[in-house]
Amino acid sequence: MENKFNLTSEQQILRETVRRFAEEEIKPKVRELDEKEEFSYELTAKMAEMGFLGCFIPEEYGGSNLDYLSYIMIVEEITRVDSSQGATVAAHNSLGIGPIYYFGNEEQKRKYLPKLASGYLWGFGLTEPEAGSDAGNTKTTAVKSGDKWIINGTKIFITNASTDVTLGSTILAVTGTLPNGKKEYTCFLVENGTRGFTARPMKHKMMWRASNTSELILEDVEVPEENILGKRGDGFKQMLKTLDNGRLSIAAMGLGLAQGAFEYALNYAKTRKTFGQPISTHQAIAFKLADMQMQIDLARTYLYNVCRMLDNGQKITMESAIAKLYCSEVAHSCANHCVQILGGYGLMKEYDAERFYRDQKILEIGEGTSEIQRLVIARSIGCFDI
Ligand SMILES: Cc1cc2nc3c(=O)[nH]c(=O)nc-3n(C[C@H](O)[C@H](O)[C@H](O)COP(=O)(O)OP(=O)(O)OC[C@H]3O[C@@H](n4cnc5c(N)ncnc54)[C@H](O)[C@@H]3O)c2cc1C
Repeated sequence: MENKFNLTSEQQILRETVRRFAEEEIKPKVRELDEKEEFSYELTAKMAEMGFLGCFIPEEYGGSNLDYLSYIMIVEEITRVDSSQGATVAAHNSLGIGPIYYFGNEEQKRKYLPKLASGYLWGFGLTEPEAGSDAGNTKTTAVKSGDKWIINGTKIFITNASTDVTLGSTILAVTGTLPNGKKEYTCFLVENGTRGFTARPMKHKMMWRASNTSELILEDVEVPEENILGKRGDGFKQMLKTLDNGRLSIAAMGLGLAQGAFEYALNYAKTRKTFGQPISTHQAIAFKLADMQMQIDLARTYLYNVCRMLDNGQKITMESAIAKLYCSEVAHSCANHCVQILGGYGLMKEYDAERFYRDQKILEIGEGTSEIQRLVIARSIGCFDI
């Protein structure tokens, strides 16, 4: 691949390695796993062996010690082939490992990170039945009782939280009321298997069918004080910071899916003939493919730039919202063009276009909907400072 995005030689080699892995190991299994709605333990173990489950954490915690851009390229290349495996990797690194690595104390990092880099998974329990975009409406509570905390509540749509290799989830709970009348939020590390903690898969999804999505029920779950992530009262801030970075991995999924759909449509258009000529030579089809290439190049340029900002320690709240919003809309547009270019075949399950079309939709919803991204951007440019 030509180096028009100024990648280092290590980054170029990494991209080629991940692409080969995705083509050889993931691609042959994608359709069957999607059809059976089956989480793949085999692929998860192989991705762990490749170092994809501890991308940006240092080697002392068992990680691959990559820069953020390299991590984002791993997610992109996997999702180019399969969104479900992309979701497993993106959610685990950004949302599972991220909070423990960024906010955990040394003991928590040593206890969990080496395992989480080696094939065990961790969930990020923010969303609840009545608290998605409106995370402040969290109903889960944690009440102090002696030297323990008692947690009660329900979380839904939590990725990676109920597999046989899931160690636990970070749970946001309300722990009191502040002097200014606002709620105090705290994050707790809750291990699977703790009494009163039920983690069960949610089935019948339209997309990411081979990714694990879970409902978590907490009924008088007792955890010790040392399971608080970082400091009491920091929970909401920790969740928002996690999402700032996490959005870049959803953007990477959008970019990877768009690239996969583009290549699939281009190959098809060069071989399918109508009126005696390949459809790629009909201007209406050629222009769709040209638009896809343009959108993908722009999305990649912007996303990689934001990753480099993050690698340089710059604040990226607005930029990660723009990247997530733009890349997910590019994925939507490219998947739509892909189906259109395949005509009737694009609607059939034997053709990847159908799966690309289903898998893109979540990207405009998960980790903050497109409406919420627009709110973040509008707030950043001062629209509401009147
Ligand atoms: C497959 C999958 C995996 C997921 N993984 C995780 C996970 O690992 N961890 C986790 O915590 N969550 C996870 N989620 C949850 C996801 O982040 C939420 O679904 C998302 O944030 C939206 O919340 P909601 O579904 O409650 O929608 P709502 O918040 O109810 O929104 C409904 C609609 O109203 C719009 N809306 C809401 N508020 C406003 C407003 N102020 N202005 C304008 N429009 C507004 C929204 O944009 C949306 O269109 C996952 C979801 C799915 C489907």
